[in-house]
Amino acid sequence: MPSRRTLRLVGIILAGTVVAALLLPLTVGMWQGEDGRTFCYPVIGPVQRYNPELSGDLLARTRAHEDAHALQCRRDGALWHFVRRLATRQRLIAEAEAYCAEANWAVAQGGQARIEYARVQDELRETGWFRRSSDEVLADALAAQCPQLAETAAREEADWNARKPRRRAA
Ligand SMILES: [Zn+2]
Repeated sequence: MPSRRTLRLVGIILAGTVVAALLLPLTVGMWQGEDGRTFCYPVIGPVQRYNPELSGDLLARTRAHEDAHALQCRRDGALWHFVRRLATRQRLIAEAEAYCAEANWAVAQGGQARIEYARVQDELRETGWFRRSSDEVLADALAAQCPQLAETAAREEADWNARKPRRRAA
């Protein structure tokens, strides 16, 4: 039986999640540098919002990323979804999973694994939350979420390097 204090804390966090999720879309400049967002409500589940300026492949790509967050919301429940995003390590796992979904989508559209993988690796590195995380930690987190894609990307990269004409030293 959880203590009354725990229940109260859970209640406060849940209420906070709802209020924050309701208010965030109203904040000015929400879309500055952001393509999409998935809100995770208790009972209702995931609600997605996309930057109205997006269309075509860019929107589809963002959808692949946000759909992964929606899945996490349904899988984890609103409370854990909210709490885990406050802890850098947990947030990294969640983001790595979403970036992997994005890269897998791009590869399914005919993209090259080595290019798509490098792209999401860069995007992960550019994420404000992970600025303090080392490149190695970020790379490991990504590889753990999509080992197959990481492997294909590494193989393609090795092939590409082998085929590349040798540059003469200046
Ligand atoms: Zn994300």
